[in-house]
Amino acid sequence: MMFRCVPVDTTVAERFRREGRDDRGGALRRMRASGSGFPCRHCLQLATEGEEVLLGSYDLPRPRGIYWTPSPIFLHAGPCERFRQDDVLAPVVLRNPLVSVRAYDAADQCLYALGEVCDGAMAEVPLLRALRHPDTAFVNIHTARPGCLLTRVEKPG
Ligand SMILES: [Zn+2]
Repeated sequence: MMFRCVPVDTTVAERFRREGRDDRGGALRRMRASGSGFPCRHCLQLATEGEEVLLGSYDLPRPRGIYWTPSPIFLHAGPCERFRQDDVLAPVVLRNPLVSVRAYDAADQCLYALGEVCDGAMAEVPLLRALRHPDTAFVNIHTARPGCLLTRVEKPG
């Protein structure tokens, strides 16, 4: 195994759906997907036309400290299966036209030299370059324009 996309925990997705509140205490926005701009951070699939989705603010587990940030995320409003596939880049990344690959070390310091902005369909090359670097502990992939987290990516061990 070279890498694994790590979606939002199922417990977090279920809490959002059950309580209608996000990690900042704000009310979730309920919407219907139109077009391809509604990536669910739990199944890591794009919501299909007309599917109901929730929009809220998510507290990223990592990086901690100086680089920590919350992120707007969409989730399917109903139950969906958490993405689990090894060595497969998530559809929400592959289908996004401009993503930002951000590498961090074990102390949650951003490794600027390993960062890359590119078409999501081409993101595996900079992702693997970052993951193979001995300093990299994990990678977060964001949308490059609004800057929202798409998925964390971890390497084995
Ligand atoms: Zn989903």
